Amino acid sequence: MTHFTQTCRKSSLAAVALILTACTAAPSPSYSHDSTVRIFETLASDAMQGRRAGSPGGIKARSFIIDEMRALGAFDSISEHPFTAQPRGEGGAPVQAVNIHGLIDTDDGDTGPLFVITAHYDHLGERDGEIYNGADDNASGAAALFAIAQSFMTAPPNHDVLFIWYDAEEMGLQGAKYFVAQDSFADRPVFNMNLDMVSQNTEGEIYASGSYHMPALKPILEQSAAGKDITLVFGNDRPEDGGNDWTLQSDHAEFHRAGLPFVYFGVVDHPHYHKASDTFATIPLEFYERSVELIVQAAHDLDENLDMLARARPTSE
Ligand SMILES: [Zn+2]
Repeated sequence: MTHFTQTCRKSSLAAVALILTACTAAPSPSYSHDSTVRIFETLASDAMQGRRAGSPGGIKARSFIIDEMRALGAFDSISEHPFTAQPRGEGGAPVQAVNIHGLIDTDDGDTGPLFVITAHYDHLGERDGEIYNGADDNASGAAALFAIAQSFMTAPPNHDVLFIWYDAEEMGLQGAKYFVAQDSFADRPVFNMNLDMVSQNTEGEIYASGSYHMPALKPILEQSAAGKDITLVFGNDRPEDGGNDWTLQSDHAEFHRAGLPFVYFGVVDHPHYHKASDTFATIPLEFYERSVELIVQAAHDLDENLDMLARARPTSE
C-alpha cells in the first residue's frame, strides 16, 4: 500500500470543524501499488492479444476490467456503452466497440460539477502475426484508473466521479467522440482528467498538458507534485508546439473541441511507441510507481478544486 502524509484540506463537511480547529486532516488517500501493477501486467499480456477494439482480445480486456471493477467495490454503478467504430486507414468492416463506465455517486443531487477521469483500454491488436501489447499505450493508464478509484474509497471525493475506460481510441478517439456526443453537459459543469501512456520514461518526467488553455491548473498540480520523486512538466499544449501540441492527440481532445476543460497526463514519445516492443517487460516499474502516486494525488487535488475548474472557460485554440 502507498500512503500519503496527512494534509490540511478544506471540504464542505469540514467547514464547521475548520472554525474550531483551523486545520482538519482529510483521510490519507491510499491504494495498492501491487494490485495496480497486476492489472497493468494482465492488460499488457499476450492473452489480451493487443486489445484491438471489437476483437476477441478487446472483449477479453473488457471482461477483465469489469471483473476487477466489481471486485474493487469502489463504484456505485458499472455500465457498458456499446457503439459502432469504423477502423481508419485499414479498410475493413465497422466493429462493435464498448466504453466502460464506473460512477462514484456522491449525494450532490447530480447537479454539482462532474469529474470525468478517463483512459483508453484498447490498442492496435495483432499485425503480421505479432502482438502489439500496448503496455505503456495504454494498459498503464487503464490500470492507473483503478489506483485512483481505490484511493477514493479511503478519502472520498467531494464531487461525483465518472471513470471511463474508452474503447477505439486507436481508431481515432472514437470512444471519447461517442461519449461527448451523448451528453451536452448543459445541466452540470464537467472537468476531464485523461491518462494515456504514463509509464515509459527514462528521465523521470511526466507531463501535465493543458495548462496553456487553463492556467489555473498549474498551481494546483505543482502542489500535487511537491516533494515527489518525479518531475512534473507543463506544456506540449500550445499551437506553436506543432506536432508536440498534444491538445488534440488523445481522448481529452473531444472535451476540448466541445469547449470543456481538461488536463492530460502522459510521457513524451519513446522508441516503443506504437511498436510491438511496447511490452510490460520494457516498463521501468519504479517510474510507473512514482507516476501513479502523482496522478492519484493530482486526482484528489483536482477534486478539491473542481468547483472552480469545471466552471472555468478554457481558451479555445
Ligand atoms: Zn496509441
